[in-house]
Amino acid sequence: MERSRKFRTGACVGTTKLRCDRRDCAPRIAERMHTPAGFIPGHALPSILPAEARIFAFREAKLAVAGTDAAPAVPTLAEATAAGLSGPHFMLGTLDGVPCVAQTLADDAPEPPGLRFAGLRALFFLLPEPLLATAARAFQIVEFDRTHRHCGRCGAATRDKPDERAKQCSACGHVVFPRVSPAMMALVTRGREILLARAHRFPPGMFSALAGFVEPGETIEDCIVREVREEVGIEVGRLAYFASQSWSFPHSLMIAFTAEYAGGEIRCDDAEIAEARWFRADAMPPLPPSVSIARRLIDETAARLRA
Ligand SMILES: [Zn+2]
Repeated sequence: MERSRKFRTGACVGTTKLRCDRRDCAPRIAERMHTPAGFIPGHALPSILPAEARIFAFREAKLAVAGTDAAPAVPTLAEATAAGLSGPHFMLGTLDGVPCVAQTLADDAPEPPGLRFAGLRALFFLLPEPLLATAARAFQIVEFDRTHRHCGRCGAATRDKPDERAKQCSACGHVVFPRVSPAMMALVTRGREILLARAHRFPPGMFSALAGFVEPGETIEDCIVREVREEVGIEVGRLAYFASQSWSFPHSLMIAFTAEYAGGEIRCDDAEIAEARWFRADAMPPLPPSVSIARRLIDETAARLRA
């Protein structure tokens, strides 16, 4: 689950089956992977969880879901208990007043009776958005629990801190917090043209915005200038913040900007980029699925340039 040194350009979720062509979808894209309305975060587990509490139980990166393939559901505590789920609980908060709890299952846990395991990407457009966003939050907490059981400084066992979302070493006292990795996304414009690139692993023909992880010591703006220069040899200026998106694969925070061309000729970093080109705003190539902030960034910028 560790990220590679480079961000996956464009935050593509990788398969075309996630494309949504429904006309009513666009207005909802802005809400994806944000804190749902009606969600109140909290980390203190109540002494007694009600039977209707939602249990977001993960075996590695897969969520235990109830319901049908076409209409998956997040199990209640009653359903999770009946299915025999066991493992530590982590309070996430309440969604419309109902407690939501993350649960870490053993990596070799069998499929519980009445439930099945599904990856988060497979649940896009099937699970209601507030539950999907809460599931993504739960995954990051479970992933933190799975990967920080021992102290990175001395190797002794850690335990959960009671007063905050953190783990503390039982021997040396070292405290660690859930990791969030900031990453920038930049859409470069030149007049009415947009610079898009193809990473080697993209589906054939698909282009997206440039993206990369922030390095220690950098601002987001520094990162944008460096990544665009490294990946395509272009200089940029006039950066403008667009939006951000939590992206739980496994713990990124995508921060998207537009940037204006300021000089240079396209020269691709062959290790990262298969091809980069200027496209007219009214002639876009195949783009990433609409669940990603990349798509929203490109669609809204292209619409602005066409206006
Ligand atoms: Zn330690």
